[in-house]
Amino acid sequence: MRIGIPAETRPGETRVAATPETVKKLAARHQLLVQAGAGVRASIPDAAYEAAGASIVDAATAFGADMVLKVRSPDSAERAQMRPGTVLVGMLNPFDADNLALLAAAGLSAFALEAAPRITRAQSMDVLSSQANIAGYKAVMLAANTYGRFMPMLMTAAGTVKAARVLIMGVGVAGLQAIATAKRLGAVIEASDVRPPVKEQVESLGAKFIDVPYVTDEEREIAKGAGGYARPMPADWMRRQAELVHERARQADIIITTALIPGRKAPLLISEETVRAMKPGSVIVDMAIEQGGNCPLTELDRTVVKHGVHIIGEPNLAAMVPADASALYARNVLDFLKLVIDKEDKFVIDREDEIVRATLVCADGAVLRT
Ligand code: NAD
Repeated sequence: MRIGIPAETRPGETRVAATPETVKKLAARHQLLVQAGAGVRASIPDAAYEAAGASIVDAATAFGADMVLKVRSPDSAERAQMRPGTVLVGMLNPFDADNLALLAAAGLSAFALEAAPRITRAQSMDVLSSQANIAGYKAVMLAANTYGRFMPMLMTAAGTVKAARVLIMGVGVAGLQAIATAKRLGAVIEASDVRPPVKEQVESLGAKFIDVPYVTDEEREIAKGAGGYARPMPADWMRRQAELVHERARQADIIITTALIPGRKAPLLISEETVRAMKPGSVIVDMAIEQGGNCPLTELDRTVVKHGVHIIGEPNLAAMVPADASALYARNVLDFLKLVIDKEDKFVIDREDEIVRATLVCADGAVLRT
């Protein structure tokens, strides 16, 4: 099979869907066609792909392969270079029905890796986790860079410097990594989430969990989430959470928000009133900005200062660590390919496999997911 790896063209995208490590494993049995310069922003020169067994080609040849490995969903110019029947694997945004319709209309068999179920067997191909882990780390780095004070407590001859207080809103994969990273830098950390198991995870990392008690059976039930993901909490619980968070935010120096609910707008957790109550010079990194943001003052792709608070709306934090983000993403892709390439090295769709079924978003000109 001919497998194409085009260069990503979306603004700010630095990652690439295959690395020399994964190319080497595939090149033993397939023809690997890597677009010239595809890995440059991830510090991978064309020569490294060639040494791993790939041919360096132009965009049309990479998109003209039987299977195309991408990071982001192809735009119209990229789709136009793909033939009907091409297999597309990438982060295709399974909740974007318009985009899926375009992929289906192009006759592609498309796999959206974000849609893999959160089961043990799918962990090695879990792109959401591998990229959120990196983004959580980078969010703390950005905050530390913007913050005009130290993160750790320091005792010096010129006096003592207090440790930064960090508040993490939403403790999934990104939030846990943000806690761990801020902890390594010496910060004092508090965190909030809706799901009950998170309390123990937060405490095991040495942070304090902000307990918002569930007062009704409905709240307790919704808080359990679905498939490992959160569900929108009732308004009354959200109001009580906001009151507690308002108090904690006044003390915080850095807030990192990561709260998401699949397929929905991100929940609003840090109101303008709360920002106004924060200390001058404090920092918010709103990791939910691509889904509308957890703070209404965040602006996509910009860092703004509002009420004396720096608010960072960087949408693609994983792409700011391009080499490692690509390395982990490429391994996720390689593991996924084992499910759709059979022993004779042919592409196969096994609809009995729950990971294949969940990720297959288009086939035979139709969208398979709503
Ligand atoms: P996510 O990116 O969908 O959401 C981030 C966090 O925001 C979640 O923890 C969610 O509970 C939280 N959130 C939503 N609404 C909130 C609100 N109003 N206030 C505070 N927090 C709110 O989540 P994720 O990072 O994809 O992880 C979800 C869970 O799945 C985690 O517990 C993770 O450990 C688990 N997981 C399991 C597997 C597996 O078993 N294979 C793989 C990956 C992740």
